Amino acid sequence: MKKKSLIIISSLLSCSIATYGQYAASLKLKEDKLNVKAKKMPANIKFSYDCLLTDAMAQAAFTTNNMEVVAVKMAPGEITAEEENKFGQQVYDEVIKTKKEITTGPVYDALKKMTNDLLACRPDNHSKLVYTVHLMDDTVVNAYTAGGQIFVNTGLIKYCKTTSELACIIAHEIGHDEKGHINLILKRIKVAGRFGEVLLTIKQITTPSFNQFNEHEVDCYGADLAYAAGYDPRAGAKLWQRMAKDRNEQESKLAKFLMSHPYSKERYECMKTHIKDNYISLKFD
Ligand SMILES: [Zn+2]
Repeated sequence: MKKKSLIIISSLLSCSIATYGQYAASLKLKEDKLNVKAKKMPANIKFSYDCLLTDAMAQAAFTTNNMEVVAVKMAPGEITAEEENKFGQQVYDEVIKTKKEITTGPVYDALKKMTNDLLACRPDNHSKLVYTVHLMDDTVVNAYTAGGQIFVNTGLIKYCKTTSELACIIAHEIGHDEKGHINLILKRIKVAGRFGEVLLTIKQITTPSFNQFNEHEVDCYGADLAYAAGYDPRAGAKLWQRMAKDRNEQESKLAKFLMSHPYSKERYECMKTHIKDNYISLKFD
C-alpha cells in the first residue's frame, strides 16, 4: 500500500516538473499551444457533412454509404471493446514482425504524454477501448490505428512543424477508433462470416479503408479534441494544405500517408469551415 502511494506521488511530481515546452523540445517541434486550459471536449459541437455534399454524385454516395452503415449496424452480433482491442493487438503483432518500435527515450515519452493528454479530453461518453501509442522507427510519413493501437512513425513527427500539428494527427487517429470506424469494419467482416480473416482486415487498416465521410468526420473530431487539450485546431487544416503542396515534390515520401488519408482541397476547406463555425475567435490567415 505504502509503495503504491509513493508511485502515485512520483508520477504527480513528474507531471508538474515536465512542462509542455520540454516535451516540445523532446519532439523537436515548435510549441504553438493556445492560451486555453485543457478541458473535456463538449458534446454540443456543431458538425455537418454538408460541405462534402456539393453535387448529386456526392449526395448519392453519401446516401449509399449511410444505408450500408445502418444495415451493418442493425445486423446481429456486436463487436465489443474487448474484441476490438484484441483485434488491435493482432494488428500490432503483425506490424511488429517487420517494423521496429522505439519504446524508450524523450521522443517516446513526449508522444505518450501527448496521447494521454488528448485521451483525457475525450467527451464523457467515450468508448471503453484501451489505447496504446507506438513510436515506430520508420521514415515514411505515416500514422495509423486499429483497435486502440495507435502507430506514429518517426517520419511523421519529423514532418510536423509544431506540437499542434502532431496533436491534430494523433487526435484524428483516436477519432477513427472513437467514432466506431474500426468497429464497423470488424462488424462488416463478422456479418459476412469472415471474422477469422485477420490478415485481410489488417490490409484494410493499413491501406485505404476509410471513405471521405469518415475522414471528414475525424478531421473535425481531431480538431475538436486537439482544441480541448489546448492545441491549435487550425494546425491540422494547415498540415493538410502543406502536404498537398509537398505532394508533387515528395511523391514517394508522402505517398503512403496520403494514400490512407486521401487529401482533397475540399477536405481542407471543410475543416476550415468546421473550425470557423465552432471557434469564432480563431482566424485563418
Ligand atoms: Zn484518417
